[in-house]
Amino acid sequence: MSKIFVISAPSGTGKGTVIAELLKRDENLYYSVSMTTRSPRAGEENGVSYHFVTRETFLEKLKNNEILEYTEYCDNFYGTPLDILEQKMNEGKNCLLEIDVVGAENIRKMRKDAVLLFIAPPSMEELERRLRKRGTETDEVIAKRLAAANSEMEKQSLFDYVVINGELEKAVNDIENIIKKEATK
Ligand code: ADP
Ligand code: 5GP
Repeated sequence: MSKIFVISAPSGTGKGTVIAELLKRDENLYYSVSMTTRSPRAGEENGVSYHFVTRETFLEKLKNNEILEYTEYCDNFYGTPLDILEQKMNEGKNCLLEIDVVGAENIRKMRKDAVLLFIAPPSMEELERRLRKRGTETDEVIAKRLAAANSEMEKQSLFDYVVINGELEKAVNDIENIIKKEATK
């Protein structure tokens, strides 16, 4: 039986980095490519990192029920396309959704058997260092993301698992083991 795995983490924690490693290790894991109205970062490819769309397109798809869940985060919309997810679930794939805590709460309401994982940074200081080191956002956007991070950290008790991304290899191993265990339940 296919399952939905949700990974949430404050921006800069390293969820993108962790997920890239997980996908290399598990061929039966489908990564749900979200739709977003934010601009692509350097190196982000349309259709791979995200489907980059205008606000008009996003709202149109929302109206047409083409989006399973969505959120508004730091002035942009982000949502999970429904069709492809259903298709992959029917093919028996486990699906990985990298979405925010609002999305995670909504998925829990819709799919009781979804497995919710929260990745936490080792500290808020390290989170800020990682966000700055990545160098993809302006100071203003970093400030907004850090403010959002504080409220996201307060929601971690809603999740089935909390994994700290201190040493990368350890975090990836921990999550890989959780997915293996839960996938066979
Ligand atoms: P997110 O997807 O959660 O916003 P990223 O995957 O983009 O975060 O990671 C943010 C930054 O932190 C990147 O520069 C990445 O290389 C770095 N990073 C990720 N995981 C670790 C780790 N375990 N230790 C140190 N740096 C990390
Ligand atoms: P970023 O701009 O850093 O790629 O993503 C910002 C936030 O939006 C992250 O917390 C990320 O998990 C979340 N996000 C990305 N796609 C989706 C989605 O489809 N739905 C929801 N609810 N959140 C998403």
